[in-house]
Amino acid sequence: MTSQATRLARVLVYYGFQVNPFCDKQKILCPFHGDENPSLLVDFTTGTWFCFGCNLSGDAFHFVELMEKQFHNTSGMKFAKIYKEAVNGKSRSLIKVDAKTVGVDDAYFSQLYDEAHDYYYCLGKTDWVHDDSDDISELREYMRSRGFMPSTLNTVRAKASYNRNYRLLFPMMDDGEFKGWVSRTTDKELAKKRKYLYNKGFRRRTTLVGNYSDYKFVYVVEGYMDWLKFRQFGLKNVVAILGWKMSKEQIAKLKDAGVANVVSALDNDKYGIQGTDYLHKFFKVKRFKFCKGVKDPGEMTKVQFKESIDKTLRSSNGHSGKH
Ligand SMILES: [Zn+2]
Repeated sequence: MTSQATRLARVLVYYGFQVNPFCDKQKILCPFHGDENPSLLVDFTTGTWFCFGCNLSGDAFHFVELMEKQFHNTSGMKFAKIYKEAVNGKSRSLIKVDAKTVGVDDAYFSQLYDEAHDYYYCLGKTDWVHDDSDDISELREYMRSRGFMPSTLNTVRAKASYNRNYRLLFPMMDDGEFKGWVSRTTDKELAKKRKYLYNKGFRRRTTLVGNYSDYKFVYVVEGYMDWLKFRQFGLKNVVAILGWKMSKEQIAKLKDAGVANVVSALDNDKYGIQGTDYLHKFFKVKRFKFCKGVKDPGEMTKVQFKESIDKTLRSSNGHSGKH
């Protein structure tokens, strides 16, 4: 471990996190966004950390700063003193970090929400069908190469953001209500590391992207692009859960809206199957019949979609085989 990494390890220990000294990288529950599955990645080779849930990142000092601001109202120059204590191996015994119960500071989140809202709504509208500027053309071609039509981008009011690396910006609407935005990189190298960026403070578990009220059943998909593809194919009753396992909150939303039946079009892989099994506990479930070799709705062609939909609607209810 470099000294920077040692400092980060000590800071984590200081706040009561379990640190595994044998790993170069480790995921911990993020204390900053009400994390449920560990999504804060600690890199002990560089001494830095990054959260895939809320996008916060930094080094040991920044971690202390955020912890103190969020949980202890520490102000002024006291961070430095606390940081020093932490890297000297003390422990802050008064603090018990439990990301599941601590960390939802309503004022903080509502401020982040406002920022995300303003950012999206203040950006100029993009006309994906008619705008022929180089910039838009490039993004349009990228999306076209993935099978997305410019008119679909207009329908969901996608925009071009100011972020050079994550140019494509989509609003996440939960039954008509803006919940935040997600942006996608078109850069291949960057996509290997991180395809999507959500706005700061965005909470996945309390969001269902799509429309579900007033529908007898909904299609459930994992990602935003899966949702977008189904929308393009004309389905309106589609929700994206932004992961493979539906959260308690998302389940409650569907239930409250009176949705009792779902078609699981979660990815055609082992996580999608696990996620589907989980849905069986709460809903009457049909599994979407993927064509051979198709991994998810996002990569589906229209022909594949039609074939799949036909098979799905003709299939009987219930488990497709015993898992
Ligand atoms: Zn986080």
